[in-house]
Amino acid sequence: MPSDIQGALSRLSPLLDYEQHLQSIVGLLQSPTELIQRQLIIEREDGRSDALDAWRCRYNDFLGPTKGGLRFSPGVNADEVQRLAFLMTLKCALVGLPFGGAKGGVKVDISQCNDRERARIAHEFGRRFSDILGPERDIAAPDVGTGAPEMAAIARGYDRMGAGRGVVTGKPLDLGGIDLRFGATGKGAAIVVQSMRETLGLAEGKSARIAIQGFGGAGQAFARAMAENGDDLVAFADSTGTVSDPDGLNVEDMIEAKGQGNLSYTEESEAIFDKECDILCLAALGDAINRDRADRVGAKAVIEISNAGVAPEADASLRAKGVKICPDILVNAGGVIASYHEWVAYRTGNAQAIGDAEAQWRKSLISAASAVTEKCSVTDGDLRQAALLCALSRLDGAARHQGVYH
Ligand code: GLU
Repeated sequence: MPSDIQGALSRLSPLLDYEQHLQSIVGLLQSPTELIQRQLIIEREDGRSDALDAWRCRYNDFLGPTKGGLRFSPGVNADEVQRLAFLMTLKCALVGLPFGGAKGGVKVDISQCNDRERARIAHEFGRRFSDILGPERDIAAPDVGTGAPEMAAIARGYDRMGAGRGVVTGKPLDLGGIDLRFGATGKGAAIVVQSMRETLGLAEGKSARIAIQGFGGAGQAFARAMAENGDDLVAFADSTGTVSDPDGLNVEDMIEAKGQGNLSYTEESEAIFDKECDILCLAALGDAINRDRADRVGAKAVIEISNAGVAPEADASLRAKGVKICPDILVNAGGVIASYHEWVAYRTGNAQAIGDAEAQWRKSLISAASAVTEKCSVTDGDLRQAALLCALSRLDGAARHQGVYH
């Protein structure tokens, strides 16, 4: 098993003295239900064929069909897919969804692919993994490097008895996608942060100063939702550089300039970690804050929109400095909760059923945030541990009720 899954679980040991009933579930989560690697052979535009490594990990299904994204990334490997599938298991448990956790990955550099090649890869993934996927078995979704067009292509590749649309969420609207799913991760993160202002050490009645590492879809949706609430974006970085202004940046202007490739960078990307701010939001790839960068962080709180944004070895350094870490499985759960509503609409054949989905989505996020805040009393203020305990309690209940153990 990847050492960071072991690390996350072993850090629980002292807490398990108080919550002894969780020992059994922790034991069972040491390894995944299944981890499958297959090769995808893809024809490129120039007629060459490429063999790409692809994985799908179904980590645990005590709570229901497994759910989780598919990422296209040049660095993805079996360990990363397992680690992310483990996080999906905890995330779905924490926010009360009837889903287990999964994740998939294809090792490919999408900057070297055009739209047609990306669609071919996704189509081939849906075809080659059609025995793993299933509307009641394992449901994929967008993740790093994939979006609605790739979901449509997976559905078509899977397409057994017309059930393809049931094996993916985050689909285009005309194929059964829902509005709520678009921007759900970033908007949901803002709802979590707003509902936890006090816990995160943000001064009452005062605008928070926000810095964002990563300015793609999730980072932009977060910035927009926070600005609507009166908070100030003071800096953001993408892979080219950092844009900052201590007096505040206009979010809409920045999104437009980014779309046109027209940003005026003030520093290199790395400078984002030194910015003076209240909230540093991680919305790029995993392991963004390592031990060195942890020493430089001057924010009151770090918000993990990206999965595993804080490297395990940096977690303790940040906490030692009094920085609150709002963990991925809570912060970015808005994506998978919206996916759940999309899945329900497809399963019931009733798009009207999602009429009040947004209110339910918001409620799920707020109640998970308050459960984590409450649990903090036994974790000495550590929000990640608190979220982990809430998630494990639910998995433990499901395992007991199914007679997995007594
Ligand atoms: N990839 C997203 C995540 O890590 C969304 C998963 C989903 O919607 O199933 O939470």
